[in-house]
Amino acid sequence: MPTNHIDEAILEKVAPLYERVKTVIPEIEWPVHAPHVAAINELKKEKNAVILAHNYQTPEIYHCVADITGDSLGLSLEAAGTDKQVIVFCGVHFMAESAAILSPDKIVLLPRPDSGCPMADMVTPEGVREMKERLPGRPVVTYVNSSAAVKAESDICCTSANAVRVVNSLDADEVILVPDRNLGRYIAAHTDKKCHLWEGYCPTHDRLQVEEVERALAEHPDALFLAHPACPPEILALAHHICSTSGMGDYVRKSQVKKFIIGTEAGILYRLREENPDKEFILPSACLICPDMKLTTLEDILRCLQTMSPQVRVAVGVRERAKVTLDRMLAVPRD
Ligand code: SF4
Repeated sequence: MPTNHIDEAILEKVAPLYERVKTVIPEIEWPVHAPHVAAINELKKEKNAVILAHNYQTPEIYHCVADITGDSLGLSLEAAGTDKQVIVFCGVHFMAESAAILSPDKIVLLPRPDSGCPMADMVTPEGVREMKERLPGRPVVTYVNSSAAVKAESDICCTSANAVRVVNSLDADEVILVPDRNLGRYIAAHTDKKCHLWEGYCPTHDRLQVEEVERALAEHPDALFLAHPACPPEILALAHHICSTSGMGDYVRKSQVKKFIIGTEAGILYRLREENPDKEFILPSACLICPDMKLTTLEDILRCLQTMSPQVRVAVGVRERAKVTLDRMLAVPRD
């Protein structure tokens, strides 16, 4: 069990792991993390658990205890395919719900039940029903960053990576896009369909300022600016490339360019730096940090494995309807 006393034997045991992560975790922090890392990695085997970590989680979680890393839907899909009976989701509440929708027979644990998503909270099932009544016959396309109850009121889901493809696949001239107005405007600019937008937004991406990006571009004229479509349109207008977090990983890996300004949550930088040690990554604003994504700690993960709580469950009726919207999205052919 971890204690405040730094146990040399534990440090030695996890030393090979530190060799792999020393470029992203400062040496002075490691003795604090090491006992928890060792205990979690033991306990997850004992409990037949798989630990999922979103791209925005802290490096000690992402690199030292996670079995699967990625974006929210990718994680849930991979978790559904494993033989582990317990899923520990290091992310926010709607992500754990997606895992519970796709893996109804597994135990889904969320180490911090208070890790919500302000954007997901900007829309309710009642609000979606009202919009459908106001705009009858238009299919509702809902970003996966939403609650299970909102998905259940929708016709189909989308991710930031496939949103345009999903909208264009629909046999309708007009669509309702929920909840991100910035993603909605991006989709509207890339489709002939008339888009009715819900006025939600991700506070983290929405607060990035044009002046901050312009300053970063002026200071690093040899860099490319990559932006997530959850950023406001005036930010996207400055981007050399617009893509999801997974798309950023692919783009950077294939690019010959050595320097990138990253317009999304700061956590992605750890992954980009680890995967591309010869390239440089710049965050244009200190505001690009999602407080909810940083709530989960190694202590929370350890406690949740010890107590097998808190669990996230989705009521059967909601789960079945929400799953239909995810299945429809997954059935949309890829380009
Ligand atoms: S980064 Fe934005 S969309 Fe993601 S969890 Fe935080 S508030 Fe929600």
